[in-house]
Order: sequence, then C-alpha cells, then structure tokens
Amino acid sequence: MTPVLYVATKNDGKRREIEHLLAGTSYEVRSLPREYPDIPETGSTFHANALLKAQAAYTALGFPVIADDSGLVVPSLGGAPGVLSARYAGENATPAMLVQKLLAVMQDFGDAKRSAHFRTSLVLMLSSTMYASFDGIVYGRIITAPKGTNGFGYDPVFVPNGHTATFAEMTLETKNPMSHRGMAMRKLKSFLQHLTLSAATPSG
Ligand code: IMP
Repeated sequence: MTPVLYVATKNDGKRREIEHLLAGTSYEVRSLPREYPDIPETGSTFHANALLKAQAAYTALGFPVIADDSGLVVPSLGGAPGVLSARYAGENATPAMLVQKLLAVMQDFGDAKRSAHFRTSLVLMLSSTMYASFDGIVYGRIITAPKGTNGFGYDPVFVPNGHTATFAEMTLETKNPMSHRGMAMRKLKSFLQHLTLSAATPSG
C-alpha cells in the first residue's frame, strides 16, 4: 500500500509547490477536503502555528500531514509583521495593502533599519505524538517602493542579500532555490528520502 501524505493548506499555490517537490517520491500526496474548516492561527511563532495546523489536520484525517507557516520579520519593527504577516493591514487585506502599510510604517527608516527576513516553519505530523519540523530563512532588506509583478505578499519590496532585484522581479526558478520556503522544503524532502515510511495494514 502506498503511504498517504496530506498537505494541510487550502492555498493552491503552496499546495502545488509542495506536490511538485514531492513528485517522484513514493507517497500518495492528497489535498485537504474542500469542506475542511480553517484552523485559526493563534500561535505566537511560525512553528507554533504550523504545529497547530498539522495537529488539527492529523486528528481530523488520521494520516500523516504536512503543514507550514511563514511570514516576514523586520527586526527594527520588533519582529512585525511576523505571524501577523497576512493580516498586517486588516483581516481581508490585499497584497497591495500589506505592502503599502509596511512602506508607510518604514518611510523614515534609513538603510540600517531596513534589514528583514522571511521565515518558514514546516511540520510533518507523523502520529498523534510525533512530528518532525524544518525551518527556512532568507535575509534581505525592504526597499522604499514596490518593484516587479511576480510572486505574492511582500515580494515587491523584498530584495534578498547579494541581489539587486526584488523577489517580485524574479521567476519562481530563481526565487525558489534561495527562498525560505524552498530551504525548508528541501530539508523535508531530504528527510523523506532518507526514511522508509510504510502504510500499516490491520494485520501488520
Ligand atoms: P503563509 O503563512 O505562508 O500563508 O504566509 C503568511 C503571509 O506571509 C503571506 O500572506 C504573505 O503576506 C507573507 N509571505 C510568506 N511568504 C512569502 C513570500 O515568499 N513572499 C512574500 N510574502 C510572503
């Protein structure tokens, strides 16, 4: 029997990224059912939120689950937007509103206060009591006006260290190898490739 892995996200872009990463491995990758409820992200760290989502999905589905949480951290803003990255400009904020709010808050900041990083935490829930976690981080800075139309979220104002283009000016093929999510996913893939996970049958 092929072991089943659920991806606990309703974000189609993320689900595709994870499925793409796991293509060619010996798992049957499944998406959450459409009617699956949204799990409130009440944790104070990315890891806590990823774990919350993975545990809730494991309990509901009874199969191993991958969940993730990520966001932008600006140390000179005390770590904001942080775990509130998606809601920084209100509950239903558009990506343009998020970027505008960040630029407004940082408008008087000089170069020294413009350092920022994206962080991802991935959790693979293997049983009701055991999980593995994988972190990814990419350092860079927030520029003063948006550039580029690719990507999502804060991509138009984030320039990774060692580059002059924003994430929104890069293709996914350029962004993924250096991104926080790419780093965490490569660690997860390597972990899965070094394991022999098998689906247990009732008779053992
Ligand atoms: P999520 O937890 O991965 O859904 O991310 C929460 C929020 O963080 C997103 O809605 C984006 O605003 C922001 N974010 C996370 N990763 C990225 C990225 O790679 N680029 C731009 N924004 C991101």
